[in-house]
Amino acid sequence: MSTSDTFFGPDFPALQAQDPDIAAVLLSELERQRHNLQLIASENFTSPAVLATLGSTLSNKYAEGYPGKRYYGGCEEVDKVEVIGIERAKSLFGAEHANLQPHSGASANVAVYQAFTKPGDTVLAMSLPHGGHLTHGSKVNFSGKWFNIVSYGVRQDNELIDYDELRDLALKNAPRMICTGATAYPSLIDFEKVRSICDEVGAIMWVDAAHFIGLVAGKAIPSPVPYADVVSFTTHKVLRGPRGGMILSKAEHAAAIDKAVFPGMQGGPIMSAVAGKAVALKECATPAYQKYAKDVISNCQVLAKSLEEEGMRAVSGGTQTHLALIDIRSTGINGKVADERCGLSGITLNKNAIPYDPESPAVTSGIRVGSAATTTQGMGAPEMKEIGSLIARAIKDGGEPSKAQAISQDVRALTAKFPVYPR
Ligand SMILES: *Cc1c(COP(=O)(O)O)cnc(C)c1O
Repeated sequence: MSTSDTFFGPDFPALQAQDPDIAAVLLSELERQRHNLQLIASENFTSPAVLATLGSTLSNKYAEGYPGKRYYGGCEEVDKVEVIGIERAKSLFGAEHANLQPHSGASANVAVYQAFTKPGDTVLAMSLPHGGHLTHGSKVNFSGKWFNIVSYGVRQDNELIDYDELRDLALKNAPRMICTGATAYPSLIDFEKVRSICDEVGAIMWVDAAHFIGLVAGKAIPSPVPYADVVSFTTHKVLRGPRGGMILSKAEHAAAIDKAVFPGMQGGPIMSAVAGKAVALKECATPAYQKYAKDVISNCQVLAKSLEEEGMRAVSGGTQTHLALIDIRSTGINGKVADERCGLSGITLNKNAIPYDPESPAVTSGIRVGSAATTTQGMGAPEMKEIGSLIARAIKDGGEPSKAQAISQDVRALTAKFPVYPR
């Protein structure tokens, strides 16, 4: 493979000469991304333009503080990048305030807790086994250790958020803040309803939009921004930017958010990533990205349907987003084994608990699939149908090495038609 096969910038030959061990991993990871099917719902392929910012000298610059109010000299150039990024975020989402500095989605959430709560306060959030994130109150996470988290879930009959339960819990517990948003919830959230519950009990409305913000950016689903006091998210999922976090809020909370991010929980921002966020936000404002966001949803719907035709069950009857949760109990195989068999067959996805899962979290009865990465590759409905049957074959036969080998050959043939970072 030649250097022109890579996206590592002009100095990749220098890296290869100086540190062949690490250079080799960069190349083999690029090959893995090119030849396997990437169905992890939180992953995507960011653009070469975004990758260019991440490999830039902006990484060298300390810029503690905010544009025009830094603790170090020499920030006049990086200030420009952050100002452009903030303006792009506010305009794309119609937000009154934007903070681009959080290093990740979890970091953004630390800042949200810090801006609005004190340790020991009550916070209502989605239960983890029903799709909530670690930062929504897991016992092994700061959120579960430092806050009184009360969890709400989905109804057993329709597997949708139970807003009556949410309201009852809010009235009973008087939470300081209510969090909606999840890592494994295939349906839309009724933000207007959540707002009215927050108003009724005087709670801060926090939307953790990490998974679906890209669909909002592409105007493919309704936005939480007009309703929420604060919206936190990652920039590397459907949004397709660099790995990182971001926070949008009403103007009245701007100072609290900025103080919570710095000096509240971080030191210097990663300015190369802030530049990458600005580039991604510009990409998201284009008609091409808006088409992408719509295609992501329709592709995921075709994929979920294809898995249903293979005899599996889509949780909550299907999907309205970029991800589907699939109950695979009809196959007689559990989530852990399915995940392993798909892996051996060149299909990267994850096992996932389904609501009211009878199996343990380490085993599970389900898988989670997402369409963000394959749609970036240019795949459409016919390919989603094919992916459904490849997954079904992998779950059934992927335990046998020769059959897993045959499936991964078919995966390779499919991905070869939709090259990632083409040569
Ligand atoms: C992915 C995700 C996060 C965490 O993002 P990281 O960048 O991995 O820290 C937080 N909340 C939700 C709902 C997520 O899906």
